[in-house]
Amino acid sequence: MNSKKEFPEGMVPLGAGKFQFSCHAGVGCFMSCCKNVDMFLYPYDIVRLKRCLQIDSETFMRQHTRLVQGGHPYFPAVMLKLNVDEDKSCPFLKKGGCGVYHDRPSACRTYPLERAVDRSVARGRHKDYYFVTNHNYCLGHLEDNFYSVAQWSREQKLDEYNTMNDRWAELDTIFANNPWKGEGSGGPKQQMAFMVCYDVDGFRALANREKIFEQFRLSREQKTGVQSDDATLLLFGFEWLKLFLTGKSSLERR
Ligand code: SF4
Ligand code: SF4
Repeated sequence: MNSKKEFPEGMVPLGAGKFQFSCHAGVGCFMSCCKNVDMFLYPYDIVRLKRCLQIDSETFMRQHTRLVQGGHPYFPAVMLKLNVDEDKSCPFLKKGGCGVYHDRPSACRTYPLERAVDRSVARGRHKDYYFVTNHNYCLGHLEDNFYSVAQWSREQKLDEYNTMNDRWAELDTIFANNPWKGEGSGGPKQQMAFMVCYDVDGFRALANREKIFEQFRLSREQKTGVQSDDATLLLFGFEWLKLFLTGKSSLERR
């Protein structure tokens, strides 16, 4: 059996090779990629950005996002809402560069790479592939710096984002199979799922009101984390949704 992964024509995974790139304030195209940009935001992007901006998740969603159809019709995807100006610039772009640099979204960190994940490798395991994208306006590809994927991931702190995005992708695979059944999209179950994924502050308030955390065996770190750390709450929420929609999850009932 030939187990070699096939990719669309022209797409060659980087593997162990290096790519030429550097982005800094001295490049002639500095900040041009922060304008007129179509950017999807994932749940972990949102918890990082709303923390950076010191606003709650509901406010962030209202002010900075718009909903679109993503890869399937059963759950909306979230995109960054751009400024309504001539440049259609990112709302976080400031005079000297990115105003949310330490919490910038996955897409901004990963560029000029694109990541594809093959989940068919073995149950519960996956393999990821990286490809170099090259926008013709981006002069970073002419800079005299060379990176491996591992070096770029380390420098951009990609691992944390990839881990959270992979957990989200597992859940989105469940959504893609229309778990809402008779309710259809936009029914109460889907609205609950949307809150868990994109409005962590709303979900925390609901979970405390309905005593949801108390229904499960949580470690001491999890008990503290769901109250004080949005990423821990997001992971709890993903598992809770899996249980709610499929009957299976890593959560253990008391
Ligand atoms: S978040 Fe920062 S890096 Fe990303 S598009 Fe906006 S300004 Fe540019
Ligand atoms: S276009 Fe490329 S080199 Fe220029 S600022 Fe954006 S990422 Fe950096």
